[in-house]
Amino acid sequence: MAMLPAKEAESIILGLVQPFDQQIDAEIVELSAATGRILASPVTSQWDFPHWDNSAMDGYAVRSADVQSCNAEQPAELEIVEEIPAGIEPQSTIQPGQASRIFTGACMPQGADTVVMQERTRCEGSRVFILEAPKPQAFVRHRASFYQAGTPLLQPGITLNAAEIAVLAAAGCTHLPVYRRPRVAILSTGNELVTPDQPLQPGQIVDSNQYALAAFVTGAGGVPVPLGIVRDEPEALENAIAQAISSADMVLSTGGVSVGDYDYVDRILAELGAQIHIRSVAIKPGKPLTVATFPPASKGSQGGAKRPVLYFGLPGNPVSALVTCWRFVQPALWKLSGLSQEAWEPVFVQARSHHELRSDGRRETYLWGRLKIDRSGNYEFYLAGGSHSSGNLINLAQTTGLAVVSVGQTLIPAGEFVQVLQIGFPKVA
Ligand code: AMP
Ligand code: MG
Repeated sequence: MAMLPAKEAESIILGLVQPFDQQIDAEIVELSAATGRILASPVTSQWDFPHWDNSAMDGYAVRSADVQSCNAEQPAELEIVEEIPAGIEPQSTIQPGQASRIFTGACMPQGADTVVMQERTRCEGSRVFILEAPKPQAFVRHRASFYQAGTPLLQPGITLNAAEIAVLAAAGCTHLPVYRRPRVAILSTGNELVTPDQPLQPGQIVDSNQYALAAFVTGAGGVPVPLGIVRDEPEALENAIAQAISSADMVLSTGGVSVGDYDYVDRILAELGAQIHIRSVAIKPGKPLTVATFPPASKGSQGGAKRPVLYFGLPGNPVSALVTCWRFVQPALWKLSGLSQEAWEPVFVQARSHHELRSDGRRETYLWGRLKIDRSGNYEFYLAGGSHSSGNLINLAQTTGLAVVSVGQTLIPAGEFVQVLQIGFPKVA
């Protein structure tokens, strides 16, 4: 299997993802617990918005015919028949020569079609003088002008945040269907790995990937299922992968996929019934990347719809592991979780690079740094300081963008434009 260009790998991976099913993979949650979740069904309301014609101002509800030709010299004089605060149903119908005192949000009375703001009036006892002819219908919010009962209010595939929660609350929606969170099993392979609470013996390193990937999965809306460190032994690995595929919708393993280990991992995956789709991708960092699918378990994974479990064998190198996660796993996980395409598609923006960007030109190269927007709204890319060796995990902190140097390109001078993959949550573009 040849080393694939990144774009091709992306399209194979996304083609393998079968998004969550609106019925089978949904659960009902209370509105107060819905923040950050993804809506699984269209929501409609039985109410019009606004619910009734109402006033957009504090002032007087009038018949426009009564006040068409008035002005400050010749004000229209109307009899005030009622005061209508917000929340009170009007009792009287406005007859010619009459008006009602009305407040913002209050129901328009029958007979009135226009609101005159109080600043354009003078009140004397039970009479009001209109000092300026309003436009007919002025300051009336008409029933159903914002939303008509029964029509789609919110579409599935959107993330519920403050604005959507406000809409749902206003619509009287106390319980709603959201997609369940995808479960993502995480396992780290390597005899050199220890947990961070253990003292380091010579040659050992901390299994940072376990934590990095769990944080990544949580940030992307999934539920991490951390399965710990697995020794580089076929039997241990086989058991761990078998456990992973039976307990999750997606599996992320790190390490053990570099050239020397190919046959070994491939053989285990094959023995467990996997179909291998990708073995390596022409990117730097991150070349070794195994993508496989396991056929659906007979009862359906996790009680959800029957769909293959997607397996990513990521490079062990912590930088490569995260870069391949951002580049390939994130859109796949988002697509799986039921987000709309607009939301899961990777976002590349044209940014002006503040620094010189270098590559050997042989593989598509990802350079980490910060993506910012200047005061004029232009994207700018600041390369992380320090070594861009894929062994250097330290300067990966605070990364918000990955600058892409294409195959064949060896230098992008400072001040030139570069394509930058936006990472992090939430998306800006
Ligand atoms: P591998 O892909 O297993 O050959 O690992 C490549 C490099 O990444 C080696 O230097 C490993 O020590 C390091 N590495 C592998 N797994 C992890 C991990 N879980 N956390 C941190 N570093 C790792
Ligand atoms: Mg290893």
